[in-house]
Amino acid sequence: MTNSSSPASARADCIFCKIVAGEIESQLVKETEDVIAFRDINPQAPLHVLVVPRRHYGDVTQLAGSDPKLLAEMVKVANAVAAEHADGQFRFIFNSGPNAGQSVFHVHGHVLGGARLGWTPA
Ligand code: AMP
Repeated sequence: MTNSSSPASARADCIFCKIVAGEIESQLVKETEDVIAFRDINPQAPLHVLVVPRRHYGDVTQLAGSDPKLLAEMVKVANAVAAEHADGQFRFIFNSGPNAGQSVFHVHGHVLGGARLGWTPA
């Protein structure tokens, strides 16, 4: 799979904008017109994929306020990834803010699955 060009919202200092633009390689598993999904470089479950809108928003709250349809599209892509690469069951996590574990400030949802998941966030 190949990425397409970067949207007008792209930030020069954003690693996920660079992945969207194809300037940094990723293991793409799915892409739509508005969303890409690629494997997390440091997987925390047998299936660990990041669902990322091509357009840059800092976090899920900013995305939900500006473009709720795009957030719904991300959920759809997460569901498709879990169906295609695991048993269809999945956890979909948005870390919002450094104290919650956010380290990349381009909104992304973590799709975790492929096993019975534990619950140890702290
Ligand atoms: P968060 O900590 O919620 O902001 O999630 C950022 C995620 O991005 C982490 O799970 C990282 O392992 C992952 N990550 C960072 N750089 C890359 C990359 N180049 N390719 C794939 N995943 C990445």
